[in-house]
Amino acid sequence: MLFPPLANDAEAASDVGAIRFDKQRLTYRQLAATTSALATELPPRPARVAIWAVKRIETALASVAALNAGVPGVPVNPAVGERELTHILTDSAPEAILCPPDVELPAACAGLRRIDVTTMSGALQPAPRLAPEDPGMVVYTSGTTGPPKGVVLSRSAIAATLDALADAWQWTADDVVVHALPLFHVHGLILGMLGPLRRGGTVHHIGRFDPHTFGAAVAAHPGRDVVTFGVPTMYHRLAQAMADDADLAETVGTARLLISGSAPLPLRDHERITAACGQRVIERYGMTETLISTSVRVDGPRRPGTVGVALPGMRLRIVDDKGVPIEARDDETIGEIQVRGASLFSGYLNRPDATAECFDGEWFRTGDMATMDADGFVRIVGRKTTDLIKSGGYKIGAGEIENALLEHPSVAEVAVTGEPDADLGERIVAWVVASTENGDGAPDAEELTEHVGRLLASHKRPHEVRFVDSLPRNEMGKVTKRALQAPRA
Ligand code: ATP
Ligand code: MG
Repeated sequence: MLFPPLANDAEAASDVGAIRFDKQRLTYRQLAATTSALATELPPRPARVAIWAVKRIETALASVAALNAGVPGVPVNPAVGERELTHILTDSAPEAILCPPDVELPAACAGLRRIDVTTMSGALQPAPRLAPEDPGMVVYTSGTTGPPKGVVLSRSAIAATLDALADAWQWTADDVVVHALPLFHVHGLILGMLGPLRRGGTVHHIGRFDPHTFGAAVAAHPGRDVVTFGVPTMYHRLAQAMADDADLAETVGTARLLISGSAPLPLRDHERITAACGQRVIERYGMTETLISTSVRVDGPRRPGTVGVALPGMRLRIVDDKGVPIEARDDETIGEIQVRGASLFSGYLNRPDATAECFDGEWFRTGDMATMDADGFVRIVGRKTTDLIKSGGYKIGAGEIENALLEHPSVAEVAVTGEPDADLGERIVAWVVASTENGDGAPDAEELTEHVGRLLASHKRPHEVRFVDSLPRNEMGKVTKRALQAPRA
Protein backbone atom coordinates (compact mmCIF):
# COMPACT_ATOMS: atom_id res chain seq x y z
CA MET A 1 0.00 0.00 0.00
CA LEU A 2 1.37 3.42 -0.93
CA PHE A 3 0.45 5.43 2.11
CA PRO A 4 0.25 2.83 4.86
CA PRO A 5 -0.31 5.20 7.77
CA LEU A 6 -3.10 6.87 5.86
CA ALA A 7 -4.91 3.86 4.52
CA ASN A 8 -8.23 2.83 5.99
CA ASP A 9 -6.83 0.00 7.98
CA ALA A 10 -6.79 -0.57 11.70
CA GLU A 11 -3.45 1.14 12.18
CA ALA A 12 -4.62 4.26 10.40
CA ALA A 13 -7.77 4.35 12.46
CA SER A 14 -5.84 5.12 15.60
CA ASP A 15 -6.37 8.38 17.44
CA VAL A 16 -2.74 9.45 17.30
CA GLY A 17 -2.33 13.15 16.56
CA ALA A 18 -1.51 13.55 12.90
CA ILE A 19 -1.98 17.18 11.93
CA ARG A 20 -1.94 20.23 14.13
CA PHE A 21 -2.86 23.69 12.93
CA ASP A 22 -2.57 26.19 15.73
CA LYS A 23 -5.00 24.74 18.30
CA GLN A 24 -6.91 22.50 15.88
CA ARG A 25 -5.99 18.85 15.50
CA LEU A 26 -6.79 16.00 13.15
CA THR A 27 -6.17 12.38 13.98
CA TYR A 28 -5.42 9.52 11.63
CA ARG A 29 -8.92 8.19 12.45
CA GLN A 30 -10.53 11.41 11.19
CA LEU A 31 -8.42 11.34 8.03
CA ALA A 32 -9.52 7.77 7.36
CA ALA A 33 -13.21 8.51 7.99
CA THR A 34 -13.20 11.51 5.66
CA THR A 35 -11.42 9.48 2.99
CA SER A 36 -14.18 6.87 3.06
CA ALA A 37 -16.91 9.51 2.96
CA LEU A 38 -15.35 11.37 0.05
CA ALA A 39 -14.93 8.15 -1.93
CA THR A 40 -18.68 7.46 -1.47
CA GLU A 41 -19.69 11.03 -2.32
CA LEU A 42 -18.00 11.21 -5.70
CA PRO A 43 -18.72 9.11 -8.79
CA PRO A 44 -16.25 6.24 -9.16
CA ARG A 45 -12.85 7.30 -10.50
CA PRO A 46 -13.53 11.00 -11.07
CA ALA A 47 -10.84 12.63 -13.21
CA ARG A 48 -9.91 15.31 -10.71
CA VAL A 49 -11.15 17.55 -7.89
CA ALA A 50 -9.93 21.07 -7.22
CA ILE A 51 -8.88 21.90 -3.68
CA TRP A 52 -9.22 25.52 -2.63
CA ALA A 53 -5.92 25.55 -0.77
CA VAL A 54 -6.40 28.11 1.98
CA LYS A 55 -3.76 27.75 4.71
CA ARG A 56 -6.09 25.92 7.05
CA ILE A 57 -6.56 22.49 8.49
CA GLU A 58 -9.49 21.85 6.13
CA THR A 59 -7.09 21.93 3.18
CA ALA A 60 -4.89 19.32 4.81
CA LEU A 61 -7.92 17.14 5.41
CA ALA A 62 -9.24 17.56 1.85
CA SER A 63 -5.83 16.87 0.29
CA VAL A 64 -5.17 13.70 2.24
CA ALA A 65 -8.74 12.43 1.79
CA ALA A 66 -8.65 12.97 -1.99
CA LEU A 67 -5.29 11.27 -2.35
CA ASN A 68 -6.30 8.28 -0.29
CA ALA A 69 -9.69 8.01 -1.97
CA GLY A 70 -7.88 7.75 -5.31
CA VAL A 71 -9.13 11.11 -6.56
CA PRO A 72 -6.37 13.28 -8.01
CA GLY A 73 -6.53 16.64 -6.23
CA VAL A 74 -5.59 19.91 -7.87
CA PRO A 75 -4.52 22.33 -5.15
CA VAL A 76 -5.38 25.89 -6.15
CA ASN A 77 -3.68 28.94 -4.70
CA PRO A 78 -6.57 31.07 -3.39
CA ALA A 79 -4.60 34.22 -4.16
CA VAL A 80 -4.33 33.60 -7.90
CA GLY A 81 -5.92 36.21 -10.10
CA GLU A 82 -9.15 35.56 -11.98
CA ARG A 83 -7.29 34.93 -15.24
CA GLU A 84 -4.93 32.32 -13.80
CA LEU A 85 -7.77 30.68 -11.91
CA THR A 86 -9.84 30.39 -15.07
CA HIS A 87 -6.80 28.88 -16.81
CA ILE A 88 -6.30 26.29 -14.06
CA LEU A 89 -10.00 25.34 -13.89
CA THR A 90 -10.37 25.09 -17.66
CA ASP A 91 -7.14 23.12 -17.95
CA SER A 92 -7.82 20.67 -15.13
CA ALA A 93 -11.63 20.38 -15.57
CA PRO A 94 -12.34 19.28 -11.98
CA GLU A 95 -15.44 17.29 -11.01
CA ALA A 96 -15.95 19.42 -7.88
CA ILE A 97 -14.13 21.84 -5.63
CA LEU A 98 -13.31 21.01 -2.01
CA CYS A 99 -13.56 24.13 0.10
CA PRO A 100 -14.34 25.09 3.73
CA PRO A 101 -17.98 26.26 4.15
CA ASP A 102 -17.20 29.80 5.29
CA VAL A 103 -14.99 30.71 2.33
CA GLU A 104 -16.38 32.79 -0.50
CA LEU A 105 -15.27 31.46 -3.87
CA PRO A 106 -14.62 33.77 -6.83
CA ALA A 107 -17.00 33.91 -9.79
CA ALA A 108 -14.75 31.64 -11.88
CA CYS A 109 -15.74 28.72 -9.60
CA ALA A 110 -19.48 29.36 -9.99
CA GLY A 111 -20.25 26.33 -12.19
CA LEU A 112 -18.46 23.88 -9.89
CA ARG A 113 -20.04 21.56 -7.38
CA ARG A 114 -18.78 22.57 -3.96
CA ILE A 115 -17.95 19.98 -1.30
CA ASP A 116 -17.23 20.68 2.35
CA VAL A 117 -15.14 17.79 3.63
CA THR A 118 -15.32 18.88 7.26
CA THR A 119 -18.92 17.81 7.69
CA MET A 120 -18.32 14.39 6.11
CA SER A 121 -17.82 11.24 8.01
CA GLY A 122 -18.28 7.76 6.72
CA ALA A 123 -17.92 4.25 8.06
CA LEU A 124 -14.38 3.07 7.42
CA GLN A 125 -14.14 1.18 4.17
CA PRO A 126 -11.36 -0.81 2.60
CA ALA A 127 -8.84 1.31 0.75
CA PRO A 128 -9.58 1.61 -2.96
CA ARG A 129 -7.46 -0.47 -5.33
CA LEU A 130 -5.04 1.89 -6.94
CA ALA A 131 -2.07 1.33 -9.20
CA PRO A 132 1.28 2.98 -8.48
CA GLU A 133 1.18 4.74 -11.85
CA ASP A 134 -2.27 6.23 -11.19
CA PRO A 135 -2.22 10.01 -10.87
CA GLY A 136 -2.00 11.10 -7.25
CA MET A 137 -2.15 14.87 -7.71
CA VAL A 138 -1.91 17.58 -10.30
CA VAL A 139 0.23 20.43 -8.98
CA TYR A 140 0.67 23.67 -10.89
CA THR A 141 4.21 25.11 -11.07
CA SER A 142 5.00 28.35 -9.26
CA GLY A 143 4.74 30.41 -12.44
CA THR A 144 8.14 31.99 -11.77
CA THR A 145 9.09 31.90 -15.45
CA GLY A 146 5.76 31.68 -17.29
CA PRO A 147 2.12 30.65 -16.92
CA PRO A 148 1.84 27.75 -14.46
CA LYS A 149 1.75 24.26 -15.95
CA GLY A 150 -0.26 21.37 -14.48
CA VAL A 151 2.22 18.70 -13.40
CA VAL A 152 0.74 15.20 -13.14
CA LEU A 153 2.37 13.34 -10.25
CA SER A 154 1.78 9.63 -9.94
CA ARG A 155 1.20 7.98 -6.59
CA SER A 156 4.48 6.14 -6.93
CA ALA A 157 6.44 9.33 -7.71
CA ILE A 158 5.07 10.94 -4.54
CA ALA A 159 5.86 7.85 -2.49
CA ALA A 160 9.35 7.55 -4.01
CA THR A 161 10.37 11.10 -3.18
CA LEU A 162 9.11 10.86 0.40
CA ASP A 163 10.92 7.57 0.96
CA ALA A 164 14.14 8.88 -0.55
CA LEU A 165 13.98 11.90 1.75
CA ALA A 166 13.31 9.65 4.72
CA ASP A 167 16.56 7.90 3.86
CA ALA A 168 18.55 11.15 3.48
CA TRP A 169 17.10 12.83 6.56
CA GLN A 170 16.59 9.74 8.75
CA TRP A 171 12.98 10.82 8.93
CA THR A 172 10.86 8.71 11.32
CA ALA A 173 7.55 8.66 13.18
CA ASP A 174 9.28 10.45 16.07
CA ASP A 175 9.64 13.58 13.95
CA VAL A 176 7.29 16.52 14.14
CA VAL A 177 7.53 18.73 11.07
CA VAL A 178 6.99 22.40 11.86
CA HIS A 179 6.21 24.59 8.88
CA ALA A 180 4.35 27.64 7.65
CA LEU A 181 4.40 27.02 3.92
CA PRO A 182 1.47 27.35 1.52
CA LEU A 183 -0.44 24.15 0.75
CA PHE A 184 -0.61 24.34 -3.04
CA HIS A 185 2.99 23.47 -3.94
CA VAL A 186 5.15 20.41 -3.58
CA HIS A 187 7.16 21.90 -0.73
CA GLY A 188 4.38 22.73 1.72
CA LEU A 189 1.89 20.08 0.69
CA ILE A 190 3.74 16.96 -0.45
CA LEU A 191 6.89 17.29 1.65
CA GLY A 192 5.50 19.23 4.58
CA MET A 193 2.13 17.56 4.97
CA LEU A 194 2.17 14.14 3.30
CA GLY A 195 5.80 13.48 4.25
CA PRO A 196 5.23 13.27 8.01
CA LEU A 197 1.99 11.32 7.50
CA ARG A 198 3.73 8.71 5.37
CA ARG A 199 6.14 8.15 8.24
CA GLY A 200 3.30 8.01 10.77
CA GLY A 201 4.53 11.21 12.40
CA THR A 202 3.07 14.64 13.07
CA VAL A 203 2.69 17.92 11.17
CA HIS A 204 2.52 21.17 13.08
CA HIS A 205 1.51 23.99 10.75
CA ILE A 206 1.77 27.47 12.24
CA GLY A 207 -0.20 29.36 9.58
CA ARG A 208 1.62 32.60 8.82
CA PHE A 209 5.36 32.55 9.37
CA ASP A 210 6.63 34.58 12.27
CA PRO A 211 10.00 33.78 13.90
CA HIS A 212 8.54 33.72 17.42
CA THR A 213 5.50 31.59 16.54
CA PHE A 214 7.93 29.28 14.77
CA GLY A 215 10.14 29.13 17.88
CA ALA A 216 7.11 28.41 20.07
CA ALA A 217 6.14 25.50 17.79
CA VAL A 218 9.67 24.07 17.97
CA ALA A 219 9.41 24.21 21.77
CA ALA A 220 5.92 22.66 21.84
CA HIS A 221 7.04 19.04 21.35
CA PRO A 222 9.28 17.95 24.21
CA GLY A 223 10.45 14.39 23.78
CA ARG A 224 9.90 14.45 20.01
CA ASP A 225 12.36 15.28 17.23
CA VAL A 226 11.52 18.56 15.55
CA VAL A 227 12.33 19.14 11.90
CA THR A 228 11.63 22.53 10.34
CA PHE A 229 10.81 23.15 6.67
CA GLY A 230 11.12 26.59 5.15
CA VAL A 231 11.99 28.73 2.16
CA PRO A 232 15.01 31.06 2.27
CA THR A 233 12.96 34.18 3.10
CA MET A 234 11.75 32.45 6.30
CA TYR A 235 15.24 31.40 7.37
CA HIS A 236 16.47 34.92 6.59
CA ARG A 237 13.89 36.38 8.97
CA LEU A 238 14.64 33.69 11.55
CA ALA A 239 18.37 34.50 11.38
CA GLN A 240 17.62 38.17 11.98
CA ALA A 241 15.30 37.43 14.89
CA MET A 242 17.75 34.99 16.53
CA ALA A 243 20.53 37.58 16.41
CA ASP A 244 18.46 39.73 18.80
CA ASP A 245 16.89 36.98 20.90
CA ALA A 246 19.12 34.43 22.61
CA ASP A 247 16.15 32.44 23.94
CA LEU A 248 14.77 31.99 20.44
CA ALA A 249 18.21 30.89 19.21
CA GLU A 250 18.46 28.37 22.04
CA THR A 251 15.04 26.95 21.20
CA VAL A 252 15.78 26.66 17.47
CA GLY A 253 19.06 24.99 18.42
CA THR A 254 17.09 22.11 19.97
CA ALA A 255 15.52 21.09 16.63
CA ARG A 256 16.83 17.91 15.03
CA LEU A 257 17.08 19.45 11.56
CA LEU A 258 16.52 22.74 9.75
CA ILE A 259 15.75 22.16 6.06
CA SER A 260 15.55 24.77 3.30
CA GLY A 261 14.54 24.62 -0.36
CA SER A 262 12.56 26.11 -3.27
CA ALA A 263 15.21 28.79 -3.87
CA PRO A 264 18.87 29.27 -2.91
CA LEU A 265 19.64 30.06 0.72
CA PRO A 266 22.32 32.77 0.60
CA LEU A 267 25.62 31.83 2.23
CA ARG A 268 25.28 34.79 4.57
CA ASP A 269 22.08 33.33 6.02
CA HIS A 270 23.68 29.89 6.41
CA GLU A 271 26.45 31.54 8.43
CA ARG A 272 24.14 33.71 10.54
CA ILE A 273 21.98 30.72 11.50
CA THR A 274 24.98 28.62 12.49
CA ALA A 275 26.43 31.51 14.47
CA ALA A 276 23.14 32.08 16.32
CA CYS A 277 22.00 28.55 17.15
CA GLY A 278 24.72 26.12 16.12
CA GLN A 279 22.55 24.43 13.47
CA ARG A 280 23.77 23.88 9.92
CA VAL A 281 20.83 24.19 7.57
CA ILE A 282 20.33 21.34 5.11
CA GLU A 283 19.43 22.32 1.53
CA ARG A 284 17.65 20.15 -0.94
CA TYR A 285 16.86 20.79 -4.60
CA GLY A 286 13.84 19.90 -6.62
CA MET A 287 11.04 21.11 -8.77
CA THR A 288 7.37 20.33 -9.26
CA GLU A 289 8.19 18.13 -12.27
CA THR A 290 10.93 16.07 -10.62
CA LEU A 291 9.94 16.26 -6.96
CA ILE A 292 13.16 16.18 -4.95
CA SER A 293 16.35 15.21 -6.78
CA THR A 294 19.19 16.00 -4.39
CA SER A 295 19.75 16.72 -0.74
CA VAL A 296 22.51 17.20 1.77
CA ARG A 297 22.35 14.00 3.82
CA VAL A 298 22.23 13.73 7.59
CA ASP A 299 24.83 10.95 7.48
CA GLY A 300 27.18 12.85 5.15
CA PRO A 301 29.11 16.11 5.13
CA ARG A 302 27.10 19.33 5.35
CA ARG A 303 28.37 21.67 2.71
CA PRO A 304 26.60 25.04 2.81
CA GLY A 305 26.08 26.45 -0.65
CA THR A 306 25.48 23.02 -2.14
CA VAL A 307 22.20 21.14 -2.45
CA GLY A 308 23.89 17.83 -1.65
CA VAL A 309 23.95 14.65 -3.69
CA ALA A 310 21.45 12.66 -5.79
CA LEU A 311 18.80 10.93 -3.67
CA PRO A 312 18.35 7.16 -3.80
CA GLY A 313 16.33 6.25 -6.89
CA MET A 314 17.37 9.42 -8.73
CA ARG A 315 20.15 9.87 -11.25
CA LEU A 316 21.60 13.20 -12.17
CA ARG A 317 23.93 14.45 -14.87
CA ILE A 318 25.28 17.82 -15.96
CA VAL A 319 25.29 18.46 -19.70
CA ASP A 320 26.82 21.12 -21.95
CA ASP A 321 25.01 23.37 -24.45
CA LYS A 322 24.76 20.49 -26.90
CA GLY A 323 23.31 18.10 -24.34
CA VAL A 324 26.55 16.13 -24.01
CA PRO A 325 27.33 14.98 -20.43
CA ILE A 326 30.19 16.91 -18.85
CA GLU A 327 32.90 14.63 -17.50
CA ALA A 328 34.67 17.26 -15.37
CA ARG A 329 33.84 16.92 -11.66
CA ASP A 330 34.70 20.30 -10.17
CA ASP A 331 33.20 23.51 -8.85
CA GLU A 332 33.87 25.42 -12.08
CA THR A 333 32.30 23.64 -15.03
CA ILE A 334 28.71 24.79 -15.36
CA GLY A 335 26.09 22.85 -17.29
CA GLU A 336 22.38 22.06 -17.22
CA ILE A 337 21.07 19.53 -14.72
CA GLN A 338 19.20 16.58 -16.17
CA VAL A 339 17.51 14.02 -13.93
CA ARG A 340 15.80 10.67 -14.28
CA GLY A 341 14.35 8.27 -11.80
CA ALA A 342 11.51 7.22 -9.60
CA SER A 343 10.10 10.61 -8.64
CA LEU A 344 9.74 12.11 -12.11
CA PHE A 345 6.30 13.43 -13.13
CA SER A 346 4.09 11.65 -15.67
CA GLY A 347 3.72 14.69 -17.95
CA TYR A 348 2.15 18.15 -18.13
CA LEU A 349 -1.62 18.00 -18.14
CA ASN A 350 -2.97 18.49 -21.69
CA ARG A 351 0.49 19.49 -22.92
CA PRO A 352 2.14 16.51 -24.65
CA ASP A 353 4.15 18.98 -26.74
CA ALA A 354 5.58 20.72 -23.66
CA THR A 355 6.25 17.34 -22.02
CA ALA A 356 8.12 16.00 -25.06
CA GLU A 357 10.17 19.18 -25.29
CA CYS A 358 11.70 18.80 -21.86
CA PHE A 359 12.90 15.22 -22.24
CA ASP A 360 16.10 13.92 -23.78
CA GLY A 361 15.19 10.24 -23.87
CA GLU A 362 14.47 9.40 -20.25
CA TRP A 363 16.38 12.42 -18.97
CA PHE A 364 14.35 15.45 -17.90
CA ARG A 365 15.91 18.81 -18.73
CA THR A 366 15.48 20.90 -15.60
CA GLY A 367 16.54 24.25 -17.07
CA ASP A 368 18.66 24.72 -13.94
CA MET A 369 22.42 25.25 -14.25
CA ALA A 370 24.89 23.73 -11.81
CA THR A 371 28.30 22.24 -11.17
CA MET A 372 28.94 18.77 -9.71
CA ASP A 373 32.13 17.93 -7.84
CA ALA A 374 34.04 14.66 -7.49
CA ASP A 375 31.86 13.59 -4.53
CA GLY A 376 28.65 14.25 -6.49
CA PHE A 377 27.83 17.46 -4.58
CA VAL A 378 25.70 19.78 -6.69
CA ARG A 379 26.04 23.54 -6.54
CA ILE A 380 23.11 25.33 -8.19
CA VAL A 381 24.10 28.31 -10.30
CA GLY A 382 20.51 29.21 -11.18
CA ARG A 383 18.05 29.02 -14.03
CA LYS A 384 19.33 28.93 -17.58
CA THR A 385 16.79 31.58 -18.56
CA THR A 386 17.30 34.15 -15.82
CA ASP A 387 20.37 33.37 -13.71
CA LEU A 388 23.04 32.49 -16.24
CA ILE A 389 24.65 35.61 -17.62
CA LYS A 390 26.76 35.43 -20.75
CA SER A 391 29.06 38.41 -20.65
CA GLY A 392 32.32 39.06 -22.50
CA GLY A 393 32.62 35.39 -23.46
CA TYR A 394 32.15 34.18 -19.88
CA LYS A 395 29.27 32.21 -18.38
CA ILE A 396 28.55 33.78 -15.03
CA GLY A 397 26.09 32.60 -12.39
CA ALA A 398 24.01 35.37 -10.86
CA GLY A 399 23.96 33.60 -7.47
CA GLU A 400 27.70 33.89 -6.94
CA ILE A 401 27.54 37.66 -7.41
CA GLU A 402 24.43 37.87 -5.20
CA ASN A 403 26.24 36.01 -2.41
CA ALA A 404 29.24 38.33 -2.74
CA LEU A 405 27.05 41.45 -2.58
CA LEU A 406 25.21 40.11 0.47
CA GLU A 407 28.53 40.04 2.30
CA HIS A 408 28.56 43.84 2.14
CA PRO A 409 27.03 45.30 5.33
CA SER A 410 24.90 47.83 3.51
CA VAL A 411 23.16 45.29 1.26
CA ALA A 412 19.91 43.82 2.63
CA GLU A 413 18.63 42.02 -0.47
CA VAL A 414 19.91 41.65 -3.99
CA ALA A 415 19.07 40.14 -7.36
CA VAL A 416 21.51 40.05 -10.26
CA THR A 417 20.30 39.89 -13.85
CA GLY A 418 21.80 40.10 -17.33
CA GLU A 419 20.74 42.75 -19.82
CA PRO A 420 21.45 42.83 -23.55
CA ASP A 421 24.62 44.74 -24.36
CA ALA A 422 26.05 45.46 -27.81
CA ASP A 423 29.67 44.92 -26.73
CA LEU A 424 29.51 42.28 -24.04
CA GLY A 425 26.51 40.23 -25.15
CA GLU A 426 25.06 40.85 -21.71
CA ARG A 427 25.87 43.31 -18.97
CA ILE A 428 25.60 42.45 -15.29
CA VAL A 429 22.99 44.46 -13.42
CA ALA A 430 22.65 44.29 -9.61
CA TRP A 431 19.30 45.27 -8.12
CA VAL A 432 20.01 46.22 -4.51
CA VAL A 433 17.77 46.85 -1.52
CA ALA A 434 19.92 48.85 0.90
CA SER A 435 20.14 47.73 4.51
CA THR A 436 18.64 50.00 7.13
CA GLU A 437 20.46 48.16 9.93
CA ASN A 438 23.74 50.06 10.02
CA GLY A 439 22.21 53.49 9.49
CA ASP A 440 24.84 54.57 6.95
CA GLY A 441 22.29 55.39 4.29
CA ALA A 442 22.38 54.04 0.75
CA PRO A 443 25.66 52.39 -0.19
CA ASP A 444 27.70 53.74 -3.03
CA ALA A 445 27.36 51.87 -6.35
CA GLU A 446 31.08 52.13 -7.00
CA GLU A 447 31.90 50.78 -3.56
CA LEU A 448 29.66 47.74 -4.20
CA THR A 449 31.25 47.09 -7.58
CA GLU A 450 34.71 47.22 -6.02
CA HIS A 451 33.56 44.97 -3.20
CA VAL A 452 32.57 42.29 -5.74
CA GLY A 453 35.92 42.79 -7.50
CA ARG A 454 37.74 42.11 -4.22
CA LEU A 455 35.89 38.80 -3.73
CA LEU A 456 35.47 37.50 -7.27
CA ALA A 457 37.14 37.65 -10.67
CA SER A 458 36.98 41.08 -12.26
CA HIS A 459 34.61 40.01 -15.08
CA LYS A 460 32.00 39.25 -12.39
CA ARG A 461 31.77 42.87 -11.25
CA PRO A 462 28.34 44.40 -11.89
CA HIS A 463 28.32 46.90 -14.73
CA GLU A 464 25.48 48.73 -13.10
CA VAL A 465 23.90 48.89 -9.64
CA ARG A 466 20.26 49.90 -9.36
CA PHE A 467 18.82 50.68 -5.94
CA VAL A 468 15.23 49.59 -5.35
CA ASP A 469 12.89 49.60 -2.33
CA SER A 470 12.03 45.92 -2.63
CA LEU A 471 12.41 42.96 -4.97
CA PRO A 472 9.44 41.37 -6.75
CA ARG A 473 8.77 37.96 -5.18
CA ASN A 474 6.11 35.27 -5.56
CA GLU A 475 4.31 33.63 -2.65
CA MET A 476 7.21 31.20 -2.12
CA GLY A 477 9.49 34.18 -1.61
CA LYS A 478 11.24 33.54 -4.93
CA VAL A 479 12.47 36.60 -6.76
CA THR A 480 10.59 36.83 -10.05
CA LYS A 481 13.51 38.07 -12.14
CA ARG A 482 11.36 38.32 -15.25
CA ALA A 483 9.71 41.32 -13.64
CA LEU A 484 13.12 43.02 -13.39
CA GLN A 485 14.65 41.96 -16.67
CA ALA A 486 14.49 43.71 -19.96
CA PRO A 487 13.31 41.28 -22.65
CA ARG A 488 16.21 39.12 -23.84
CA ALA A 489 17.15 38.50 -27.43
P1 ATP B 1 7.70 27.86 -13.20
O1 ATP B 1 8.19 26.51 -13.61
O2 ATP B 1 6.21 27.98 -13.30
O3 ATP B 1 8.42 29.00 -13.83
P2 ATP B 1 9.12 27.40 -10.70
O4 ATP B 1 10.17 26.73 -11.55
O5 ATP B 1 9.61 28.40 -9.68
O6 ATP B 1 7.99 28.05 -11.60
P3 ATP B 1 8.78 25.17 -8.93
O7 ATP B 1 8.66 23.86 -9.62
O8 ATP B 1 7.99 25.38 -7.70
O9 ATP B 1 8.32 26.28 -9.92
O10 ATP B 1 10.28 25.49 -8.55
C1 ATP B 1 11.38 24.72 -8.99
C2 ATP B 1 12.61 25.59 -9.19
O11 ATP B 1 13.04 26.20 -7.94
C3 ATP B 1 13.82 24.81 -9.64
O12 ATP B 1 13.81 24.58 -11.04
C4 ATP B 1 14.98 25.69 -9.18
O13 ATP B 1 15.23 26.73 -10.13
C5 ATP B 1 14.45 26.33 -7.90
N1 ATP B 1 14.97 25.67 -6.69
C6 ATP B 1 14.39 24.72 -5.93
N2 ATP B 1 15.16 24.38 -4.88
C7 ATP B 1 16.28 25.13 -4.97
C8 ATP B 1 17.49 25.26 -4.19
N3 ATP B 1 17.68 24.56 -3.07
N4 ATP B 1 18.43 26.13 -4.61
C9 ATP B 1 18.24 26.85 -5.74
N5 ATP B 1 17.14 26.81 -6.51
C10 ATP B 1 16.17 25.95 -6.13
MG1 MG C 1 9.95 25.52 -13.25
